Amino acid sequence: MSVQYLKGVGPARAKVFAQMGVETVADLLEYFPRDWNFAPSAIKINQMRPEQTATVVGLVESIDYQSYRRQPIFEAIISDDTAVCRIVWFHGGFLRDKLRPGQIIMASGKVALYKHQLQITNPRFLILKEHSIDIRRKTQNSRLKTQDFGLTGPDEYFSGGVYPATSKLSSRQIKRIIRPVLDNLPELVADFYDKAFLKKTNLIGRKDAFAWIHLPPDEEKLAQAKRRLKYDELFLMQLGLALRRFRTQHYSRAPACTSSDKIDSRIRKRFPFLLTEDQNNCIDEIVTDMGKSEPMNRLLQGDVGSGKTVVALYAALLAVANKTQVAIMAPTEILASQHFTNIERYLKGSKVSRRLVTRGLTGKKRTALLKQIAGGEMDIVVGTVALLQEDIEFQKLGLVVIDEQHKFGVEQRARLRKQTTPHCLVMTATPIPRTLAMTAFGDLDVSVIRHSPPGRGAVITRWVDRGNRQKTYEFIRERLKAKKQTFFVYPRITALEQDSDIKAATDEWKKLSAEVFPEFTVELLHGRMPTAKKQQIMSQFHKGKIDVLVSTVVVEVGVDVPNATIMVIEGADRFGLAQLHQLRGRIGRGEAKSFCFLFTQSESEVVRSRLEMMTRSNDGFEIAEHDLQLRGPGELFSTRQHGLPDLKIANIVEDYDLLVMARKNAFELVRSDPMLTNAEHRNIRRALLAKFGDSLGLADVA
Ligand code: ADP
Ligand code: MG
Repeated sequence: MSVQYLKGVGPARAKVFAQMGVETVADLLEYFPRDWNFAPSAIKINQMRPEQTATVVGLVESIDYQSYRRQPIFEAIISDDTAVCRIVWFHGGFLRDKLRPGQIIMASGKVALYKHQLQITNPRFLILKEHSIDIRRKTQNSRLKTQDFGLTGPDEYFSGGVYPATSKLSSRQIKRIIRPVLDNLPELVADFYDKAFLKKTNLIGRKDAFAWIHLPPDEEKLAQAKRRLKYDELFLMQLGLALRRFRTQHYSRAPACTSSDKIDSRIRKRFPFLLTEDQNNCIDEIVTDMGKSEPMNRLLQGDVGSGKTVVALYAALLAVANKTQVAIMAPTEILASQHFTNIERYLKGSKVSRRLVTRGLTGKKRTALLKQIAGGEMDIVVGTVALLQEDIEFQKLGLVVIDEQHKFGVEQRARLRKQTTPHCLVMTATPIPRTLAMTAFGDLDVSVIRHSPPGRGAVITRWVDRGNRQKTYEFIRERLKAKKQTFFVYPRITALEQDSDIKAATDEWKKLSAEVFPEFTVELLHGRMPTAKKQQIMSQFHKGKIDVLVSTVVVEVGVDVPNATIMVIEGADRFGLAQLHQLRGRIGRGEAKSFCFLFTQSESEVVRSRLEMMTRSNDGFEIAEHDLQLRGPGELFSTRQHGLPDLKIANIVEDYDLLVMARKNAFELVRSDPMLTNAEHRNIRRALLAKFGDSLGLADVA
């Protein structure tokens, strides 16, 4: 039902609500307060007890303002049908033209004993009625009820939710509109679970949860309401993911690629080293997945240089051994060709046929290659995502490997699903904290390489005090003399007028090359340069012809220079921790010890906490998790961007335990009733459809 038909809402207000994202009554119920106040129900004055917090309603008999006191006080004497009491406001001068005898007021505050009399000190108050002629009669008849003053309950003003308001709709008005809805909850909030489940999980009913989140009787009940609603929100999200996964697993078929000892040892012979334990574990998981005819949907995570490509190549060779083809996709041509070079290194002398597809490949040559791929003569094809998705037809595609470097690539997965369904392995160097892995990537399986192969020099990270800049330069000079190379990374290409204290690559490059390191070759690299120029500079740096590379974050992608052992990051407080970690991954690739120096403008508490994390840890996952705790999930990802509804009340970091429980229960439910057709799951199904629309394929089964 549209909110427009609620009491107190017409077409105009409905528009205001729509701007707040509230269209239906169900939306309104999920328009949760951002804060809550608690005040007890009104009592009679003679029931007041010292030390308690009390709400009373009474007639103002007299007022007095004593401004001469050291602490000026405003005093009112109020009465109801049972007794009289004093109300005192310290520094209450502002009340002089507000409170008058003859008004009816409601006051809520702490009760104290003063000169043998009970009084309320500094209460919150509300004038219920300005003038009352027959009030004395009413009070004497003991009929003085707050209802007489147009309030739905005794504490409406003092307790309950505080809503996120707009200039057109105050919290108070929202509250007035929601209250009557709460009296009619049953049909709107049918429960999802049976009593036994609620008891086991210590969750309250959904109806109570909605009633209490808006109008909590006390703090304890508010906490219970929050817990239940958070759980439901997380549960529905996980259920959406579980269903999405169920669909890919059961409605599409991939070629089962089985392994054997012989295949395994033949593949391993290709690598001139023993695989690490982490690599072996990932391979085990992949082999199990690929052996099934359900398409694999796996994310392979690990820092740059941790050995993901080797694992992916293992998977590719397993697919080839099963007479299927493999597509390896990278985000850029440079990265695609790097992959190809890498693969060539391992496959030298192998019968496995492989080709790099580039933009430059055109005309007859291209046609010939496409024919080979379509005819199944080409085993492994490497190229950019764009290129391989264009018009290439495979005879039997068994595996797609997607290298995303630093992006999360949900979009690409979505597009790939339209093809026949090969197994899919997505590689990413972005460490994804466990919470995100369960939400944004909740329908993917995840394999992790945590420890890089041996033979890497440690990276020592220092946050450098401004005063030690020269000393740092001298340290770098010594290393440059020893033929080591250095990165200088800046947050900006050029300085902005208004932000002139943020160092920018172009200006600093001039300074570094002319003043600081005139005796060395210092070059500039940034994203706005022509591709050919970029490639030329990178290749010279690679060959050791450039000593110092001054750049923006473009070095994040695709620079692999083991001899570069120093990195200076300016304006480090401008980068996210995950990004700093990735930048730093560009050094420490050889056996020598490497150094990363961080300079910042600000030294605030937050900056300190984040950068100390960088100096302390080299573990990308730990860092990502820390960043998530500090910044909250909002900045790192938006659920909507991943085709999931936004979370209104739950927080994946703070409510991690509930998330784990919701995930387990959601996946179990889908296993037992994949289409949610059991009568007992009707309410869940309805709520799910309301949230996700029919994108889950539930709607087609009535
Ligand atoms: P990633 O794809 O994660 O960036 P790569 O697979 O390209 O990492 O591996 C990085 C480097 O480490 C490569 O030079 C590779 O040859 C080497 N390498 C990979 N695995 C091992 C291993 N188990 N032992 C020794 N070196 C390895
Ligand atoms: Mg790589």
